[in-house]
Amino acid sequence: MRVLILGGTLAARHLADRLVDDGFDVITSLAGRTKNALLPAGQVHIGGFGGIAGLSEYLRVENIDALINATHPFAAQMSRHAVAASSDTGVPVLRLTRPSWAERADAREWTWVDSHQQAAEVAALLINPDQGSVLLTVGRQHSLDYQFDLADRRVVCRVALALDEIPPGWDQIVTRGPFSLTDEIEVFSRFDVCALVTKDSGGDETSAKLDAAKHRGIPVIMVRRPDSLGETTTDPDEAVTWLRRLRSTRIEA
Ligand code: NAP
Repeated sequence: MRVLILGGTLAARHLADRLVDDGFDVITSLAGRTKNALLPAGQVHIGGFGGIAGLSEYLRVENIDALINATHPFAAQMSRHAVAASSDTGVPVLRLTRPSWAERADAREWTWVDSHQQAAEVAALLINPDQGSVLLTVGRQHSLDYQFDLADRRVVCRVALALDEIPPGWDQIVTRGPFSLTDEIEVFSRFDVCALVTKDSGGDETSAKLDAAKHRGIPVIMVRRPDSLGETTTDPDEAVTWLRRLRSTRIEA
């Protein structure tokens, strides 16, 4: 049985490894933005498909039997395309995503916002220019959305891939998670972090910053994730079971 995993996350890579061991014929697709990305077991497709029509065509031409959307929780466009291509072609799709941080006990203490624009406005209201730094961990694509609202604030922007240019007064940390609580406490202290602006990526790999913020007693501004579309699980075991069930139905038919 042929499975296409829409990847770009650790969970996608781990799932591909498991499925290949379990005898599935697996293709993982990556958007192709990360240089030297660690590749999963099975085949790899690099680059976009060309919208919904392109993905539908790919599913047909490659005889894909099932689609797993294991992209990042904020990969909203790819996720919409996955659901639309599934309904065009009849190829079943399952969304595998990380558990939201909204379930954490301290989530009620954070300021939840719907967009990066709102997050920037709230951060500018909460933090004065004479306070410490605002730590931004909102991803490379959105970091510069904050440059005007936080123009006269100290900002530390943490990204996996360096920004070509950063505004005056900003520091940039180029690194990739996972991060331990000890690492995070050290970063918060080194940059005198007085507020954290982040997005609800969820899961454990990058959650230590939330514990560090709590430890330091500073505000957290959290961008809500887009709604998950279609059948969704946060448990990789459930994704494997879902695929095995489909495979056994196909063998019986
Ligand atoms: P997006 O906005 O939802 O998608 C934009 C376009 O990129 C899609 O329409 C598709 O192009 C292409 N694309 C996205 N994911 C793809 C995949 N796995 N395989 C092939 N093409 C893909 O996506 P994004 O937020 O830019 O994320 C891009 C990739 O980075 C995803 O793989 C995601 O898992 C990973 N990532 C994203 C974030 C984040 O915060 N957004 C964080 C970490 C990792 P076509 O329309 O041409 O098919």
